[in-house]
Amino acid sequence: MITLKSPEEIEIMRKAGRIVAETLALVGETIKPGITTGEIDALVEEFIRSKGAIPAFKDYQGFPASACISIDSEVVHGIPGKRIIQEGEIVSVDVGSIFEEFYGDSARTFAVGEIDGDKAALMECTEKSLMAGIDKARNGNKLGQVSAAVQEVAEGAGYGVVRQLVGHGIGRRMHEEPQVPNFGSADDGPMLKTGMVIAIEPMVNLGTYKVNTMPDGWTFVTADGKPSAHFEHTVAITDNGPDILTVL
Ligand code: MG
Ligand code: MG
Repeated sequence: MITLKSPEEIEIMRKAGRIVAETLALVGETIKPGITTGEIDALVEEFIRSKGAIPAFKDYQGFPASACISIDSEVVHGIPGKRIIQEGEIVSVDVGSIFEEFYGDSARTFAVGEIDGDKAALMECTEKSLMAGIDKARNGNKLGQVSAAVQEVAEGAGYGVVRQLVGHGIGRRMHEEPQVPNFGSADDGPMLKTGMVIAIEPMVNLGTYKVNTMPDGWTFVTADGKPSAHFEHTVAITDNGPDILTVL
């Protein structure tokens, strides 16, 4: 069942979303060669709690940290730890918060120092595909229009769009219906309605769309070892069009 949110509930979700956006901005200021993923995770947890919110990923289905941190060929769900971030890497950081019982969820990929042109183009296109999807998140559109718009931008640039993982409805739970694929026909899926809130999150690979899971049971990696990027926003469908909740 797809849960519709009242305007009042969407305003609470905007607060949860803003905390996530502020957290990612702080990560962007902090990330540099030499810092460990565990140090970034500690910063994320401390900041979210300082805002009176709860890190949504911590202990979610047993996930051991507050941020998912995924480097280069890691797609999503990387577990922070002792790994030292290096110049030239691209680092996807996914953060969730719970504020007054509502969730916010957003991710972005950061360039560390100087990165090569292939990685820079991949990041730029992934964010562009997210924005193309968001632009279709409108009352009366089919959900498939969001999916198809993301896919068209990413595959149009020659990249692989991950199929095994998808976006999701969000509200009082992090993962609600509907699933929000980053591929598919514009005719597919439910009709979008004012009051729906969805997390749109393209994961775009430089090479094949295929992914594998690492032995830690969490980390997804590209099947061909090439880099991947991930951008995500929590978006409310309103009478005035898409309303991105995970912004400053
Ligand atoms: Mg996320
Ligand atoms: Mg998500």
